[in-house]
Amino acid sequence: MIRFDNVSVTYGDAGAPAISGVDLTVPEGELVLLVGPSGVGKSTLLGAVCGLVPHFTGGTLRGRVTVDGRDTRTHRPRELADLVGTVGQDPLAHFVTDTVEDELAYGMESLGLAPEVMRRRVEETLDLLGLAELRDRPIATLSGGQQQRVAIGSVLTPHPKVLVLDEPTSALDPAAAEEVLAVLQRLVHDLGTTVLMAEHRLERVVQYADQVILLPAPGTPPVVGAPAEIMAVSPVHPPVVALGRLAGWDPVALSVRDARRRAGALRERLAGRFPTPPVPVTRASP
Ligand code: ADP
Repeated sequence: MIRFDNVSVTYGDAGAPAISGVDLTVPEGELVLLVGPSGVGKSTLLGAVCGLVPHFTGGTLRGRVTVDGRDTRTHRPRELADLVGTVGQDPLAHFVTDTVEDELAYGMESLGLAPEVMRRRVEETLDLLGLAELRDRPIATLSGGQQQRVAIGSVLTPHPKVLVLDEPTSALDPAAAEEVLAVLQRLVHDLGTTVLMAEHRLERVVQYADQVILLPAPGTPPVVGAPAEIMAVSPVHPPVVALGRLAGWDPVALSVRDARRRAGALRERLAGRFPTPPVPVTRASP
């Protein structure tokens, strides 16, 4: 569904490319997670899928990125909106109107759909994302998780085949992040949407990924594989993976539940071996 053919992106007069040697495919209907240290080019790679790179950011894109056969260098983001929905970290930066219902309708305005089709799609999306009761609410009064669901809904009304999300849960508390992840899973499982998502809160998302794309260092080609396989070597990984790597688990556990189920042998090995607590230092009073 998404294809990178030997892609590199170089910004302005930067000496080195931000991403380079990117050759990969994201199959239809998968949830693929993009990971790597900060500044490694994750947003650049996502931007090349939705057309923000190079159309809005500038820079030079070499190679070819296609989404469902459409070349993102020759299609501007607006010409990809019916195919690719894009959501960032801060939903407030995304909104154009004031209420939930208007925001959902806005995403379709440039598509020239008949009013009854637009109305039906707004209703479908309100139901799909559990937003029906909030339809008349001013967006400013919603919680962070509700706002992020509206942001996702507003790019879903044109029925895109691909959803690109840049750190969609990073700014949310754990309960709100759960709400958003539940919605993403529903899209992948029920509608067959292809989701490509960068997220540094890996403990929240890695267990749901079908594949992981790791950008190990700036300008270094990505490594692609099954989540446990990539987490075993990734410089960024959640604490539960750090535990699994320390314990020598193969494959590493990706969730706390998974780790708990595997921890029996580790518990036995560590029984009675608690570190001696340091002797408290008492300072003589002056
Ligand atoms: P990440 O999302 O992994 O943090 P980015 O894709 O945002 O990485 O950035 C990769 C590199 O490209 C960084 O060095 C960043 O400063 C640079 N960069 C990103 N966007 C632009 C831009 N619009 N213009 C110039 N340089 C940019």
